[in-house]
Amino acid sequence: MTTVFDLADDLGPAKVIHVHVPKVGLKGILVVDNVAAGPSIGGVRMAPDVSLTECARLARAMTLKNAMAGLPHGGGKSVIFADPKMPASEKEQLIRAFATAIGSETQYIAGPDMGTNEQCMAWVHDEIGRSVGLPRELGGIPLDQLGATGWGLAHAVKAALPFCDLDLKGARVAVQGFGSVGYHAARFLAAEGAVIVAASDSRGTIYRPEGLDPDALFRLKAEGKSVGECRDGQASGPEEIIDVECDIWIPAARPDVVTEQNADRLQTRLVAEGANIPLTSGAEELLHQRGVLVLPDFVANAGGVICAAMEYHGATQTAAFDAIAEKLTHNTTQVLQAATEDRVLPRTAAVKIAKERVRKAMATRRWGGMV
Ligand code: NAD
Repeated sequence: MTTVFDLADDLGPAKVIHVHVPKVGLKGILVVDNVAAGPSIGGVRMAPDVSLTECARLARAMTLKNAMAGLPHGGGKSVIFADPKMPASEKEQLIRAFATAIGSETQYIAGPDMGTNEQCMAWVHDEIGRSVGLPRELGGIPLDQLGATGWGLAHAVKAALPFCDLDLKGARVAVQGFGSVGYHAARFLAAEGAVIVAASDSRGTIYRPEGLDPDALFRLKAEGKSVGECRDGQASGPEEIIDVECDIWIPAARPDVVTEQNADRLQTRLVAEGANIPLTSGAEELLHQRGVLVLPDFVANAGGVICAAMEYHGATQTAAFDAIAEKLTHNTTQVLQAATEDRVLPRTAAVKIAKERVRKAMATRRWGGMV
């Protein structure tokens, strides 16, 4: 039988808890990966096909993301094996039961992820008094509505411009996945002179070399339409966004959209990863060889978790957005300088910096901060 020790290394995981409550059909797993810098923060994912391996990998990703962001938090993640579209009353029961089961694990602070939202976090908070991504009424900062991750992404892009000889004014931007992250990144960049030449969603792509209005596209989405239905521009299928000639390409939808098989179609100078693992490692390597700068996901899309951590510590919305701007600018510059000096991929440089930070935090702690 495979155990979690097969996935372990010197950084973690520190603790794995399996939860089983047959009375409500609850099966879940909590992986606390590393808590040297402070209690772990990470989302609760609900899907029928989650796994221990997925949970452990996501928990590690949070350790690195939180360390890269310079937060006083380690990384953790939890998964619940269930269909998130179940009736609300059943979902409430499952979430409440899961929260109660992990309640004594004070080294983990739950946040929203795929299949869970701020309502779920309110239930967790009600049970154990510990979660982030809460509704405003409970002191939450509505990060998706405000665009915390898009705000951070825009700052990461700005910090990367000198490394690829680009000027934001007039830079052509294509956004793959016009949801919360994609829309807000587009609107913040457009406000500073970038031209949004293309946007896509799961149903289509819209292309207009003179520039699209992000707010008009957002209104279209709010009416339940696809960006492809925008009258101002040339419409095509969702996959076509990869062929749009641009300066900055922003994947903000699903994992693995750019692979070794289609990476050669990208005609851009900078890729800013808004989604988690939107490019395979092979695709990142191929683009690096072609001189395309790729800003890694856990550096560029940390705005959401920074906002959540600031919420947890009682900060205001303004303070949270200021912290995101400062951290993303500083961290992106540090990663790209290290990558340039060491002649390595930005992701290689970023992982090295994040792991060094975690190891330094561990060195200050009894038991390495793992218990
Ligand atoms: P969202 O659901 O608001 O938006 C996703 C968008 O992607 C939708 O418009 C959808 O139509 C589109 N999409 C789906 N499949 C597509 C396809 N094949 N081609 C083109 N578009 C497609 O989600 P979000 O909150 O914006 O998150 C987007 C990604 O960023 C996810 O991978 C998420 O895990 C990651 N992320 C989000 C945050 C955050 O703060 N929301 C933080 C870090 C990472």
